[in-house]
Amino acid sequence: MGDGTAVDMLRDMGMLHTGGHFSLPVSGRHGTTRINKEVIHRNRIAMFSLARMIAKEFIAAEPEGVIGPMNIGKLIADWVTDNLILMTGKSVESLAAIKKSGGRAFSLDEPTRKLVHKRRLLLVDDIVNTGESARRTIDAILEYGGNIVGFGVLFNHCVWNSAHLADVPKFVALAHVELDSWAPPACPSCADGVPLKEL
Ligand SMILES: [Zn+2]
Repeated sequence: MGDGTAVDMLRDMGMLHTGGHFSLPVSGRHGTTRINKEVIHRNRIAMFSLARMIAKEFIAAEPEGVIGPMNIGKLIADWVTDNLILMTGKSVESLAAIKKSGGRAFSLDEPTRKLVHKRRLLLVDDIVNTGESARRTIDAILEYGGNIVGFGVLFNHCVWNSAHLADVPKFVALAHVELDSWAPPACPSCADGVPLKEL
């Protein structure tokens, strides 16, 4: 599951729940693992420490900016940026990728386009699923002349297609989590009469 310390912290802060019987948000499917992003805002010390682990992994790449998709990715970018500044004493920008209206693609606003130009950038996010949305963010950064030095996340769901991120020099996930899920009629826990667990 990756770094034991990071996984323990993610569990302790109530973000990672495993071995249960959960109804998953959005899909309505049932699964044994649930990630609760809501707790990020209530656990700033833990988040700062997790961001430090990501920052340490990429410090040798000397990022000049850290960029995260709005909203949670940008929060993580802030914490990773603060850690890089504390560790290096050098200036690092924290930047955001914004959702294009109506679509799933990410874009950069006008000031950010200028800030990514010819800069060494670390992309961060909370979760990578297939890598597809990271790909769209990377394409937006490349379009404006940014240079991606790495990609760091809290969780890798282990379903990603590495072709999406083939040109990313380094990828780091603090925790690897298999996300088995079933439509409720096919759910083994339901078949066993196990009640759903609330978070
Ligand atoms: Zn079930």
